[in-house]
Amino acid sequence: MCYDGDMMKRLIKPLLCLLIILTLTACSATSENSVSFEAMDTLMSLKVCGDNIICETLENRAHELDERLSATNPESEIYQLNENGSAKLSGDALSLVKRSLELSKELENSFDPTVFPAVCEWGFISDEYRVPDEKTLAQLAEKIDYKQIAVDDNTVRLPKDVAIDLGAVAKGYLADECRTILADSDASCAILNLGGTILLYGKKPDNTPFKVGVADPENPAGYFGYLACGEGVVATSGGYERYFEEGGKRYIHILDPTTAKPVDNGTLSVTIFSDDGVLSDALSTALFVMGIDKAAYYQAHDDFDFILLTDDNNLYITEGIYDDFTLAEGCDFTLHKISR
Ligand code: ADP
Ligand code: MG
Repeated sequence: MCYDGDMMKRLIKPLLCLLIILTLTACSATSENSVSFEAMDTLMSLKVCGDNIICETLENRAHELDERLSATNPESEIYQLNENGSAKLSGDALSLVKRSLELSKELENSFDPTVFPAVCEWGFISDEYRVPDEKTLAQLAEKIDYKQIAVDDNTVRLPKDVAIDLGAVAKGYLADECRTILADSDASCAILNLGGTILLYGKKPDNTPFKVGVADPENPAGYFGYLACGEGVVATSGGYERYFEEGGKRYIHILDPTTAKPVDNGTLSVTIFSDDGVLSDALSTALFVMGIDKAAYYQAHDDFDFILLTDDNNLYITEGIYDDFTLAEGCDFTLHKISR
């Protein structure tokens, strides 16, 4: 199996820390502390107005969750679950599996952690990319169904050939956990870039909003615009984060659970702003799969806002953040305001 320890290659995304860059002048107080490290297969950078010990506590929590939640880290509980078909999970892994099940039901056909064997088959874990044949894809799609995950107390069971990946929500869970740690501390403000999922906490000393740059898919080190916002979690999913090209076609790491194939619906990137980290992270992936045609999902929910860019240079922004978004100079996207 591609998630076997020998075959597995950790995917480090050094660029990810650049995908969304924040105005880090936010915490200009004297007690500003920062740290950068690698966890969850990505680079994380934390900036906190508060005691240095808080940065350490947050970093430790990131490593701890990596060891529990990663599908590619042989030490993790999820890895063990996938290997053995059943496992007793810790509080963190169990609660994220349960939350993922709720989200899978809510986001039927767009978010499903059992896409993992298909993610592997396309080579996104081993880095040995390949386009599977249609028969294999049909078999894989058949096996993608979160309803097969059985939870009994703290034991989770998976049928044969089913494996899960919490990669689409783990960083959001970490963001929520970091918020709890910060709330128990004397930190007044923090900007935590957890590899593209960003927790904005507290108030900047000068009381101005946080400013988050949204990565330009054509040039992920640059930004197509900026969002001014208060506390919350900003999560972005982009096809540019991990992909390969074959026969002139681009295949990205976000899969449509109904087909087991990379999404190919004209979406280039989705950014979600919400108070809830797990929701932000899940929705950035799910709305990417839904595409703008199914964005009516937004009208039925009032707990998030989004920025969605399509490959025909149309930028859709929901009304809750529309006036807080500024298009970068020279960027000629056509803006559309999505109302509830
Ligand atoms: P990233 O982790 O690169 O920031 P996402 O949050 O969008 O991006 O999560 C994508 C990861 O989640 C993929 O690498 C894959 O492991 C997994 N995944 C891909 N498609 C789906 C899906 N439709 N539902 C749930 N998980 C998915
Ligand atoms: Mg996500």
